[in-house]
Amino acid sequence: MKPNLINGLWETTGHGAENINPSDTSDVIGVYAQAGLAETETAIAAAAEAFPAWSHSTPQQRHDILHTAGDEILSRTEELATLLAREEGKILKEARGEVTRAGHIFLFFAAEALRQRGELRDSVRAGVQVEVTREPVGVVGIITPWNFPIAIPAWKIAPALCHGNTVVFKPAELVPGCAWALVDILQRAGVPPGVLNLVMGPGAVVGQSMLDDARVDAITFTGSQATGARVAQASLPHMRRVQLEMGGKNPLVVLDDTDLDIAVECALDGAFFSTGQRCTASSRLIVMRGIHDRFVSALADRMARLKVGPALEETTQIGPVVDSTQLAQDLDYIAIARNQGGVLRAGGDALQLQTNGYFLQPALITDTHPDMRINREEVFGPVASVIAVESYEEALAVANATDFGLSGGICTTSLKYASDFKRKAEVGMVMVNLPTAGVDYHVPFGGRKSSSFGPREQGSYAAEFFTVVKTAYTRP
Ligand code: NAD
Repeated sequence: MKPNLINGLWETTGHGAENINPSDTSDVIGVYAQAGLAETETAIAAAAEAFPAWSHSTPQQRHDILHTAGDEILSRTEELATLLAREEGKILKEARGEVTRAGHIFLFFAAEALRQRGELRDSVRAGVQVEVTREPVGVVGIITPWNFPIAIPAWKIAPALCHGNTVVFKPAELVPGCAWALVDILQRAGVPPGVLNLVMGPGAVVGQSMLDDARVDAITFTGSQATGARVAQASLPHMRRVQLEMGGKNPLVVLDDTDLDIAVECALDGAFFSTGQRCTASSRLIVMRGIHDRFVSALADRMARLKVGPALEETTQIGPVVDSTQLAQDLDYIAIARNQGGVLRAGGDALQLQTNGYFLQPALITDTHPDMRINREEVFGPVASVIAVESYEEALAVANATDFGLSGGICTTSLKYASDFKRKAEVGMVMVNLPTAGVDYHVPFGGRKSSSFGPREQGSYAAEFFTVVKTAYTRP
């Protein structure tokens, strides 16, 4: 059984959970120790005790640990990508990309540890100097979802440690393998006891006890809106800072003047790659009438040629859905869309392949209107809907008619419309002639409205969440 890491020691518990391959449910990847309330409280106490020393560690020490970890992740890309593909179902090519991204994130934050910034200013009063500096926040609780099993933990753990915080990390139940491998790498890279703790287990037990514990100074969470709301509500009584990254209903606008091949590539990648299980997936395709029929027909043709199959087969383009619950949800939403008048133009069938996995042919639903549930609620699977519009202005209004605001894209050859969309799309990330999913690791990541709450993640902007600002006045 793979143990939890608490105060520098690998600790098993009396209860383990199996990690199952969604491409082949007969394949058990491993058994992972499940923490309970007692283990979580011990981990939080260890992180609190380790904080004073770690918060005063040198930037060089933090740099060296993060750099060593980044190097090891990159040197083990193939092995870690295989583990990721096996436990989450992302195809190998995408899994390699995610592992590489995790490695790059650690190298970025290794260097960021050496770039601690501050300001020295003259006071408005004569003879007084003002310094503005940043300090670590304290014990950071990290709660992550299953869809990016190594990249999301990386983009939360790396900045937390870089800026001198200690960590209690709770990964999603479905993907303990990558979480365990990452923590093992960091521990061997030299993270001192208590500075990084791993507690695997159910959200309702481990996650909830992190929310309820006053010793946790900050929580960074990525997951569903429903859980995000719990994190926020539970944190308010503690006056704890929270960072929430939640769902999306991301629009891809396709104007009449677009290059059809580019628009089809953007839609295919954005809506269906990674089995559509990306918070930035293009789930609403908002298409102008003049190009609508050609676009739908070209996209349906490309979809028919997509190879759905086991994640570890090199020729597979679309891996399985992550589990039976998610597959049932995807099929439910296809049925709901059809019941509300949508037309299933391509795919949508659960597939029986040689192995027993959760395979679904990507689905395209046309003839939908903005008020339908398929256009209002996050599906989180390989399902996209098409909304036909008459003008750019209507497309923009439909794109913004949602409670979500994570990512939004436009395909057009018009500088005028591209510029207007960049300005007026109510999202945190905007793409022109690019898929809505697929972002860089050195610039801010996050959204607006119900998609995100709190400061941005990633890049230098991560300091906004992982540090507190201090203003010091001196009369020399
Ligand atoms: P989820 O909300 O079910 O779970 C997320 C995490 O919260 C898990 O670790 C879970 O165990 C934990 N959790 C559950 N109940 C809890 C509780 N009561 N207290 C504390 N923690 C608890 O989400 P999921 O199904 O793992 O992930 C899918 C969701 O994540 C989708 O909505 C997707 O859009 C979103 N997501 C968002 C981003 C982003 O950056 N905006 C990125 C990836 C995924």
